[in-house]
Amino acid sequence: MHSNQLENCVLCGRLYLKSYTDFCLDCYKEIEADFKKVDAFIKDEANREATLEELSEATEVSEKRIADFIREGRIYGEDFPNLGYPCAHCGTVIKRQVLCDSCYDQFSEEVNRTLKRDQLADEIRKPQQRAGKYWQVKQDK
Ligand SMILES: [Zn+2]
Ligand SMILES: [Zn+2]
Repeated sequence: MHSNQLENCVLCGRLYLKSYTDFCLDCYKEIEADFKKVDAFIKDEANREATLEELSEATEVSEKRIADFIREGRIYGEDFPNLGYPCAHCGTVIKRQVLCDSCYDQFSEEVNRTLKRDQLADEIRKPQQRAGKYWQVKQDK
């Protein structure tokens, strides 16, 4: 079966037999154990308002891993007022995607602008190319 191939675990780098996950069984177990800890802690009514930092401290699970749980939707960030992870660009606390709304807007605007600038550059370049060819033709004569 092609699904049973040897791969390096993305977490610990050890070779493992790839089936359903990107990591080896040991890492998978560790992540599941971490998830249970985080899930149990946040489900406690008294901890509903915990931040990512507090949650990480209380469960000894890295903030990055908890952020992954939220991003993957395993922990539903919208249910917990203070729980989120930093926007990859400005650090604002967000609960889904990788960028906050304003960074996303800014980013897509920038992409649009770059696209437009490229188009503009193409349009500026075209007549010059034509002129260049014309010049060459004249030179050849
Ligand atoms: Zn591993
Ligand atoms: Zn942002």
